[in-house]
Amino acid sequence: MSTPSSAPAPIPFIDLAAQRTRLGPKVDEVVLDVLQSCRFINGPQVGELEEKLAAFAGSRFAVSCSSGTDALALILMAWELKPGDAVFCPAFTFCATAEVVPWVGATPVFVDVKADTFNMDPESLELAIAKAQELGLNPKVVIPVDLFGQPADYDALLPIAEKHGLKVLCDTAQGFGGTWNNKRTGSIGHATATSFFPAKPLGCYGDGGAIFTDDEELAKVLKSLREHGQGVDRYQNVRIGMTARLDTVQAAVLLEKLAIFEEEIAARERIARRYNEALADVAEVPAVDSRAASVWAQYTLKLPAGVRDELAQKLGAEGVPTAVYYRAPMHHQPAYREFPTAAERLPVAEDLCAQVISLPMHAYLDEATQDRIIAAVRRALGK
Ligand SMILES: *Cc1c(COP(=O)(O)O)cnc(C)c1O
Repeated sequence: MSTPSSAPAPIPFIDLAAQRTRLGPKVDEVVLDVLQSCRFINGPQVGELEEKLAAFAGSRFAVSCSSGTDALALILMAWELKPGDAVFCPAFTFCATAEVVPWVGATPVFVDVKADTFNMDPESLELAIAKAQELGLNPKVVIPVDLFGQPADYDALLPIAEKHGLKVLCDTAQGFGGTWNNKRTGSIGHATATSFFPAKPLGCYGDGGAIFTDDEELAKVLKSLREHGQGVDRYQNVRIGMTARLDTVQAAVLLEKLAIFEEEIAARERIARRYNEALADVAEVPAVDSRAASVWAQYTLKLPAGVRDELAQKLGAEGVPTAVYYRAPMHHQPAYREFPTAAERLPVAEDLCAQVISLPMHAYLDEATQDRIIAAVRRALGK
């Protein structure tokens, strides 16, 4: 019989400590530099990071900010969304995608997702636009989400947006580093928001985010909005803004992390492929569109409802952590129930909430640990 002391060590779901080891003393040094410079806000690292982020994404401008949520909100503020405007959001996403819409007085309208990629369903978007018009709302913005790291189907979504005069705000909080038709996210819609929350593929050591755009005027307005709507200098306020800057310490950390990000993306891809090969016969493994490259923010299996919960329980008992993103679709959340939906039911989003389960996924998952996870999954599913 095994005793607690002989039980294998619990596996972290995302191992930020392993990444810190990989980065070595360099991160500590650059943080110390900021502390010694005392330029905690708007230090030179912020501008340097913005240049490197724009180059990485292939966009003309990158505007850093305080979080992924604020990145989304700043864009809606810059586009002057107002009451009566409709913003189309997937029903299967993290709440922040839709949360910012009521902030500017506009109405989120929930759209169903596709059963294979879990990303926004173009047919449901068409229905949602018609529904908004029927309700007397003005369709203004669509927010496709690059869920779990995989870019949404932009070949289908962009023409629909264009036909209806919608701006496209890409939420790549989970997808930064991924590509669609070999273009990095950040270079696809009218504007893109990302997050540097520590658990995202590119994370900092606190909260942070960024906006990407090719629109010079938009970039200018965003920079003003993140500094209280400042005009020629900080003593002139030309619009209602907020405090939404990325601080210098986080920019310094991100510069170090961005330098190894490509290497980490390759590792994530390798690990995802290993999972696919080992689990395709026991569960529905992630489907990646042939035009997309996922950055694997999550590695998510789909199982029949019921089997999923049993698997989570069995793995937990073996020290293998799992997560369920998401347990409820947005339109069933108490705070969002009153907002319109593309149709009476959004069946795919609703079903997925009972079927999905995410396994440990990060760039430093070694083969022995991954094999332990794979064996536990196969055992739990009776294979
Ligand atoms: C994490 C996340 C956000 C919000 O980012 P924060 O930096 O935590 O504010 C927005 N959208 C999606 C899809 C996310 O996963």
